[in-house]
This record gives sequence, C-alpha cells and structure tokens, in this order.
Amino acid sequence: MSNYIVRKLKLEKTPQLDHLARAAGELYSRTVVSFWRTVRKKNIWLSGYTMERWHTSSSLHAHSSDAIVQCFYNSLKSWRIRRKTDPHSKPPRRRRWYFKVIWKSAAIKLKGGKLRLSNGQSNSPLIVDWYWEKPSIIELGWNKASQCYELRACYKEEIAQPINDGNVAAVDLGEIHPMVIADGVNTDIFNGRYLRSVRRYQNKLKVRLSKLIDRKKFRSKRRKRSIKSKQKQLAKLNNQIKDIEHKLTSRAVSMLKLRGIQTLVIGDVRDIRNGLDYGKKNNQKLHQWSFGSIRIHLEYKCKKAGIKTVLITEEYTSQECLNCRKRNKPKNRNYRCSCSFEFHRDGVGSNNIRAKYLGIVPVVGLMARPSGLRFHSHIQCNLTDNILLGNPRDSIAGE
Ligand SMILES: [Zn+2]
Repeated sequence: MSNYIVRKLKLEKTPQLDHLARAAGELYSRTVVSFWRTVRKKNIWLSGYTMERWHTSSSLHAHSSDAIVQCFYNSLKSWRIRRKTDPHSKPPRRRRWYFKVIWKSAAIKLKGGKLRLSNGQSNSPLIVDWYWEKPSIIELGWNKASQCYELRACYKEEIAQPINDGNVAAVDLGEIHPMVIADGVNTDIFNGRYLRSVRRYQNKLKVRLSKLIDRKKFRSKRRKRSIKSKQKQLAKLNNQIKDIEHKLTSRAVSMLKLRGIQTLVIGDVRDIRNGLDYGKKNNQKLHQWSFGSIRIHLEYKCKKAGIKTVLITEEYTSQECLNCRKRNKPKNRNYRCSCSFEFHRDGVGSNNIRAKYLGIVPVVGLMARPSGLRFHSHIQCNLTDNILLGNPRDSIAGE
C-alpha cells in the first residue's frame, strides 16, 4: 500500500520564481487557446499527447512543460465527469497569467543540503535549501494568504498495514467535541471550544466585510480593494482552523500509537447533512462541522502510523445505555439512564461505536472517568519520538 505525504515550504518572491510562474502561465494559456481554436475551426478534440508535442516552453524543463499541458487535460477530464451530474458546469477556458510549475523526479537533484530543480539546459536551475529526503514530485504555486510562493514536495511512502484488529479504539466525531476517543478503559474528550470560537468569529467577520463591500460602488477600485482584503482576512482564519485540526488529530493519533492501538473505528456521520433542515442557525453549524476534514486527517495520519481505520454507521450509538442497552435521548451534556448509569454524553457514543464494531457489550466496571484535553497553540502533538506525523517543524528542530 502506498501513501502520499506533502511537505510545504514558503519561498520569498524573487524575479526567477516570477519568471518561472509566468512561463508556466504562458504555456498553459497557449494550450487552452490552441485546444479550443481547433475545436471551433476543425471540430477536432486534440489528445494530450499531440498537445504535449505541439506546445513546450523554452524556459522550463521538458517534463515540466508536459505536466502543465497535462494539468489542462486533467481539468477537462474532471469537467467531463462533473457534467454528468451538474448541467451548469463549465469546461476550462480561462487563460492564466501565472500558473503552477511542476518538477518531476528526472528534474530534481539533491546534493549537499541543496535541492537543484532543473529548468532545461539553457536556463539556470532553481536552487533551494533542503533538509529532508528527495521528493518524487515538486510543485511551485502562489500562496494567496501569505502573499508568497509555496513549494509543495510530494513523497510516496510504502506502509505495511496490520492484518489483525489487535487493540481497538473508537472515535466519535462531534460538533461540540471534535473527537471523543474510547479504547475500552480510557475515554478522552478533545475539547473544541477554541475551534468553535474561531469559526464563529469567521462567520461574523464574513457578514461584516460583505456588508462593507455591498456599500461600495460596483466595479470601483475601493470595492476591489475591500474584496481582496476580505479574502485575505478569511484565509488567515482558515489557516488557524486548519492548524487546530492538524494539531488535535496529530495528538490523537500519537496517543493511540503510544497505547498500542492497531485499529481505529470511526463513527460515520457522512449522510447527516443530507435532507435534514434544522433551521438557519443549526444548519450553519452542521455544515461547518468539520468532521470531513478531521476524518480525512485521522485516516491518513493513522495510515502513516500503521493503524487500520474502519468506518461504521453510528445509528443510535449516542442513545443506547452502556449498562442495560436501553435507549434514552440525552438532554444535556450528561447521559443519564434509569438504571442509575451516568456518563459523559459523547463518551457514550464512542464507547458504543467500539462495542458495535467488536460485537460485544462494554464492561462498564472497567471504564475510567473520561478525561478532557483542551487545545492550546503549543499543544504537544508528538508523544513519541519515533513517529513523525509529517510536520516539517519537528524535523527542523533536530538539525
Ligand atoms: Zn441503563
């Protein structure tokens, strides 16, 4: 089984990077224009191979040129798939002033802590300080939020997955608590208060800035300026949200690894958003509930740590009593049953998911009181030294 991880590095704007991005944009635009012109005039849809031979850039490595032409064909392909369900989808027609630059493995060399990215024989290569292994593909793009270039290095990793279940833990993804993890004895509640507060602030800011933009004259310079400022401010908050999600999930996976967990069962809540209307406020909450991204982070981080992940439906798991299996609807944050069983509401959910997967009745007597984990910006993500969860800062610290 293979897995891709991406390492990101920010680069200052330089004339060389500008020149490369401009050359890529020029090649992409040429591809777009020629493709649609041939469709219009001759009614021929040229293949990617023909286009790669027709258009190349003298400022880029031959493989980089091919990759840019392929980018156009990839978006054409995704449009063809999208068209089946969405009649309003449009094919890629826009020309680009700048475009991302891609280096494939033949153009990448690593020597003495420097990465040498070739741009063809007649051009000077791009040289970057590099402390890590040689990546298999590199992409250079513009980061709008930080107003600088971003180098994205992809690594392909081979990972052995455990065949047996081993020790099983379950996670319940929720709106109030992003993750509640149960392993039969311990129940860990990851507090989501801070995450919620950032998201709430983002909503308020969005409204305030939109109002400000609406007051400006259409197509005026001021309006354009405020739109740009809105995008920048919202992007900053998005980065904060992403940071919190990454830190929490890294911490969770490293904790599972430390406890010797081999299988993580994830309560599947994917269809909760469809077909239900809870009113304006609750709908917004539900739609911004980041279980999607948290689930994806958990899945790939577990994969990297050698933990198997399983998705199961979580029907009634938040209602069933752990002691007598009676179904109750919990009213507030505490779960209370007529058999005098009491527990944290979300702790019940994750313990039930675990029991459901294993097909057993949980032993209530073994269960410890749930412990909470609050987010703070310097939270320790790696509890063990031997697993690194793809965070470049951790590996720099050792240099
Ligand atoms: Zn009960």
